[in-house]
Amino acid sequence: MRVVLLGPPGAGKGTQAQVIADRLGVPAISTGDIFRANVSGKTELGQKAKVYMDAGNLVPDEITVAMVKDRLAETDAKGGFLLDGFPRTIAQAEQLRESLADLGQALDGVLELVVDEDELVRRLSGRRMLVDGEMIQRDDDRPETVRHRLHVYRDQTAPLSGFYESEGLLSRIDAIGEIEEVTGRALQALGAADGDKPSAG
Ligand code: ADP
Repeated sequence: MRVVLLGPPGAGKGTQAQVIADRLGVPAISTGDIFRANVSGKTELGQKAKVYMDAGNLVPDEITVAMVKDRLAETDAKGGFLLDGFPRTIAQAEQLRESLADLGQALDGVLELVVDEDELVRRLSGRRMLVDGEMIQRDDDRPETVRHRLHVYRDQTAPLSGFYESEGLLSRIDAIGEIEEVTGRALQALGAADGDKPSAG
């Protein structure tokens, strides 16, 4: 299965991406995680991306698209994938469609996690991650950057919802609730819930 997970910062994409990808048996590919790994590894890509990330802006499409193409060409992504955080602009979505078409592939579905904005600000401002045994705040989770990221989302990424809807690929799911509940809704939307599996024999 080839799936895109869409949703604003703070909707729980990272968490759901891991769980859903495990259940589908495909790798979860997060552009945010790849960028962050490059930033900590102080690679050239990381140094370029950090400037944009710290400001809460999108990394330019040419950098991001090339990175994703490389990642999708790896063996583990041949049989499917779940993309988290990509595409984030209509241009990225069009380039993804082309890259997949070149490989004779296409997306099977797009899941949009829906959470209202007050809840997002509350979640992001309180969010901490564990790094080297310490709970730290991501540089881009500071309140002023959070507001800017939500603005960037509304402006550049939210239009993808209409783009994928017109392709007949979009399912919107309520992302408020327990993690397992949201996963259940996601798998059901993809037609991959346990109860929907064709029984053997
Ligand atoms: P969140 O969904 O919480 O905003 P991510 O981990 O997906 O966080 O992304 C963190 C940052 O990485 C973004 O704010 C952006 O700067 C950069 N980034 C991630 N994915 C993309 C993308 N597809 N295009 C451009 N920039 C991206």
